[in-house]
Amino acid sequence: MQYQWKKKEIINKIRILLEIFNQEEKAIEDKPIIVSSIETYYKMLTLIAAKEIQLISEEKNSNNLENFVKTMNSHKKDYPFLFEEEHKDFIEKLSKLKIIDQKKYSKINSKPKELTKEAKLFFQSLNTFMIDNLNEVEKINPHLYHFTKNSDVFGCCFFDFYNKIPYILIRHSKNITDILTTIHEIGHSIEYINSTTNNFKSINTEFLPYLLEMFFYKYNKYYQNDLQNNFLTSYNNVIYFAKDAYKQMNLYERFKGDEKIVEKFNNFSPILSHKLCQNNFEIPFIDVVKYIHSYMNASKVYEVYIDYPKEVLNILINSVKQGDINQYHKYFNQIDINFNDLNIENFQQQQEKLFIKKY
Ligand SMILES: [Zn+2]
Repeated sequence: MQYQWKKKEIINKIRILLEIFNQEEKAIEDKPIIVSSIETYYKMLTLIAAKEIQLISEEKNSNNLENFVKTMNSHKKDYPFLFEEEHKDFIEKLSKLKIIDQKKYSKINSKPKELTKEAKLFFQSLNTFMIDNLNEVEKINPHLYHFTKNSDVFGCCFFDFYNKIPYILIRHSKNITDILTTIHEIGHSIEYINSTTNNFKSINTEFLPYLLEMFFYKYNKYYQNDLQNNFLTSYNNVIYFAKDAYKQMNLYERFKGDEKIVEKFNNFSPILSHKLCQNNFEIPFIDVVKYIHSYMNASKVYEVYIDYPKEVLNILINSVKQGDINQYHKYFNQIDINFNDLNIENFQQQQEKLFIKKY
């Protein structure tokens, strides 16, 4: 399948961004956002190039552990709450929950065009703000959607924050996840074009996309079994991720601040460290916690949405309009959802009640 994005065009975009970056009069505060946009195009470029040459090398050397500790230490500044005792406790409890057996998805024979049409109809059903924004996103990038058969990629919204241009990548698996991924990535793009802050590293980045997937569950009447299966997958993923996060957390506790241990570890057992790295550091801790946090909060808000759809949607739209995704909790407090209250005991029951009642 040909990529919608042309290598030449992407390289040109990088070149222009580099020129802007090097302009002397460019304000210092603009520089990180320019760098983030360059990184975005670079990621897209490697994705295209990976098909032709082995550009992404499988370098998993023994420095991974050292890098991991370094990364974790640097996250500490950005996400101090991740290192609080109550969050560790929460991750531990979550990691002890059981995984539920899953069914296979049935095939849907939908072409990319039909999928995007389906997604548009859904956004139209929500609210004029949402569909207006989607139209805007499609106008900004007429080649917005790109479907791939590459099984490594689930879905992604690449975003050039400096120029505010979105690019959406969707895996074409010919089941219900295609529609959900399309909706999910559109959610990111709408949020990003409205963002007024540079705070796209927020803990809530996955909140709106997951919530939209949940809204689709209420909206769609044809694929209920497969949609239930999808939420079962998400539920299982939350537990898998928690197990990973728990392992990483323990390792971090053991190795943080002790450079000698890290050094010894690498010198004496490079093979062991390689294996450990493979098992534990595949998904960086921060992304795992983001996923869990966003998914649980989305479930919580969805629970209220079932009874008060209009109210929840209005609050949501206002917070997207504000352009700061860290502000969600401020608005949702109005309908009595305490964003920081993530209750593990209720999580399982809530998921069964909301999505997986037939299992
Ligand atoms: Zn996402």
